Amino acid sequence: MNIENDVKLDYSSVLLRPKRSTLGSRKEVQLTRRHTFRNYNPSHPLTVTRDADYEGVPVMAANMDGVGTMDMADTLGRLGMFTCLVKTYSIKELVGFFIDNPERAEYTAYSMGITDDDASKFRVVYRGCYEKIKYVCIDVANGYSERFLNYVASVREEYPGIVIIAGNVVTADQTQELLLRGADIVKVGIGPGSVCTTRIKTGVGYPQLSAVTECADAAHGLDGHVIADGGCTCPGDVAKAFAAGADFVMLGGMLAGHDEGGGKVISKHYANGEATLLDNGNYMPHYEQRQFVQFYGMSSEAANTKHFGGLKEYRSSEGREVLVPYRGRVETTVRDLLGGVRSSCTYVGAAKLKHLPKCATFIRCQDTHNRVYE
Ligand code: 5GP
Repeated sequence: MNIENDVKLDYSSVLLRPKRSTLGSRKEVQLTRRHTFRNYNPSHPLTVTRDADYEGVPVMAANMDGVGTMDMADTLGRLGMFTCLVKTYSIKELVGFFIDNPERAEYTAYSMGITDDDASKFRVVYRGCYEKIKYVCIDVANGYSERFLNYVASVREEYPGIVIIAGNVVTADQTQELLLRGADIVKVGIGPGSVCTTRIKTGVGYPQLSAVTECADAAHGLDGHVIADGGCTCPGDVAKAFAAGADFVMLGGMLAGHDEGGGKVISKHYANGEATLLDNGNYMPHYEQRQFVQFYGMSSEAANTKHFGGLKEYRSSEGREVLVPYRGRVETTVRDLLGGVRSSCTYVGAAKLKHLPKCATFIRCQDTHNRVYE
């Protein structure tokens, strides 16, 4: 048995130290990034010729029910952001989506697991839409199996002209291994997610800020990229993830509860504690309506029941099911999120998001903010 005694940090363990800056306003901050990927070798340039493989605001919607939808992809795409679609769309839906508007390939990833059925389904969709898919997200809960590595290598071999996103891992060694096997972007995060119970069920995980820092460092040394996946609870966490070296930040819970997720809006009524004094001396209690949308982890019992008719006998659920407040259109949330990140950049003197890691100094702290009215 080994024990690592180095301190490992979460988003909640640190704050960004403000620095003197010449930036006049957060409007001046450029959030767009351009990336060129290490293994991607496009033989079919899909759209206009670019001198970078990717250009956009590097925030991604997670491939989760209620988040990684086609509607979300189109809305976020208009805002320059990216979406990993859920794995459960049908072949027909996927082919239609990518054929209808080839520009979608620039801001949407096809997601898949690592079974033979996943490989066959992708082959059919890819051919069906005349190879108009640029990004594939090979997504497993545990990115440490030999089978997963071999699968990534086989996808690389079969599809040189596809950007491979692969995960999830949390350590430098496996990040490098994935890049060497053919991944372009490694997804980092085991257990930090808002509806994830892996750490409770298995005791496995890695504090997310340190995981991102260490994996980004390892990836950048090989011209690879990383996605900080999971654990962001507010715009400040997203800024910390970028400051830690993430090339992209993936969000589930922060983008849940919106119209674009397609979930059913559930109304509930609550006594709000206020009352009106009536003429007869009695009090009439007041009620208010609150609206929610169901949100669940993709390995929760709810997800397994919806997509696979129940949990398999040998598996335990590693996700929870919650009701999140209904928040309307996602654009308002995105504006708040990007405003926060822009402001972080202004505080530390980063004129571009690209400069944030260089400008950032993290301060370890016991408590990140005042919770008196929460
Ligand atoms: P969030 O942004 O909500 O904190 O985290 C989103 C991430 O949680 C997803 O991108 C995915 O990596 C992870 N995730 C989604 N569903 C589950 C689940 O059921 N179990 C676990 N362990 N992780 C999940």
